[in-house]
Amino acid sequence: MEKHLKVSEAQQVIIDAVSAMSVERVALAQSLGRVLAEDVCANRDQPPYDVSAMDGYALRSADVANAPVTLEIIEDIKAGDMPSKTVQAGQCARIMTGAPVPQGADAVLRVEDTQSMLPNIVQINCSVKQGNDIRYRGESMRDGEVVLSAGTEIVPGVVGMLAMVKAATLNVYRQPRVAILSTGDELEGLNDAFDANKIPDANSYALMAQVQSLGIQPVLLGIARDEPEELRRYLQMGLQYDVLLVSGGTSVGVHDYVRPMLEALGVQMKFWRVAMKPGHPMAFGSTDTTFVFGLPGNPVSSMVCFEQFVLPALRRMMGCSRLHRRTLSARLTHDVKHKHTRTEFVRVTLHQEDDDYAVTSTGAQGSGILPSMAKADGLMIVPASSQGLMAGEQVRVQLLDGTEFQEVADFRE
Ligand code: AMP
Ligand code: MG
Repeated sequence: MEKHLKVSEAQQVIIDAVSAMSVERVALAQSLGRVLAEDVCANRDQPPYDVSAMDGYALRSADVANAPVTLEIIEDIKAGDMPSKTVQAGQCARIMTGAPVPQGADAVLRVEDTQSMLPNIVQINCSVKQGNDIRYRGESMRDGEVVLSAGTEIVPGVVGMLAMVKAATLNVYRQPRVAILSTGDELEGLNDAFDANKIPDANSYALMAQVQSLGIQPVLLGIARDEPEELRRYLQMGLQYDVLLVSGGTSVGVHDYVRPMLEALGVQMKFWRVAMKPGHPMAFGSTDTTFVFGLPGNPVSSMVCFEQFVLPALRRMMGCSRLHRRTLSARLTHDVKHKHTRTEFVRVTLHQEDDDYAVTSTGAQGSGILPSMAKADGLMIVPASSQGLMAGEQVRVQLLDGTEFQEVADFRE
């Protein structure tokens, strides 16, 4: 219990503890950002027949092998029309994108490669291969085929496919209900009267925004004073949710009641120390119904711990398989000192530079200094074993937003 876990070890404990939520049915229009809990099949061939990929002429490729040649236009076929004639030798049909290719034709030539002669005669300027600019029946999906599998994250392209197969409602994983609690006598709420001696409660809102960025609307429970009975009442409220995020009060100060009070309320603590900077102390535990994260009070620490521990847990609960923020390789623009044996997360900006990204610290890195977090594009990972990094080195940077995630974390511990 007293041991400092590595970041990756702590993350594994959490990921092993949580699992996907139950399933609910939602309307397609409400499905963005959710995760499919069922396989989805195509209910027809798509396209339903061979169609033209261009505005042009449907013709017989053999007829135009010696282009330029002229062909007789036998009909006009618009998208939504069905052709009524068969294209014979020396003939073609004027055809629009998405319109069915008529019998007899085996290729489409785009209008730009033709020249109109008389109303019913066109000059074909070049030869075409069989199949040119034809989209074949069933080319994008086949009737009955599984086109989306359970576990798929619903991004805009997936919404399009769901509409294509007429899935007006679908089974998705339920989103976890998340409660956020701040603790500390020194804290001043957003709507409290101004008091120069107090510390505004930044954590409730920064954490709220981090949860919202995953598509979940959390509930803010407010601020619990460092007083056991008040804290108990708030924590009991928080234990009504699937996930409770408590910031502050998890350390070893005499007024840090969060951990003992959680234990008194039946929360089994799995760990409370992680070898990282910023971030220590960071606690995790659970009851039968709630996962509890005891996050550090310092605003940057709390946000960094959210990124490493809460985010993968919430994504797992949402049914996602890619749990982690994207990391990328980038070139450091200045030296970075590193003396201790903890994994360090340095707030950085990224600038595209030739084929690489240039990484630069956003400034003072104290764990309470929010401005350098607010400016950051990402967190540079300094491995625990590092003796310091030098300008020009390739480093790993974990992005701080975006909807693309990856399966494995990348701490190189
Ligand atoms: P603690 O973990 O409770 O010892 O808090 C560590 C530091 O974080 C102290 O300087 C607190 O004032 C500060 N802090 C705790 N909670 C918050 C919060 N919700 N918003 C801003 N700062 C906080
Ligand atoms: Mg405190």
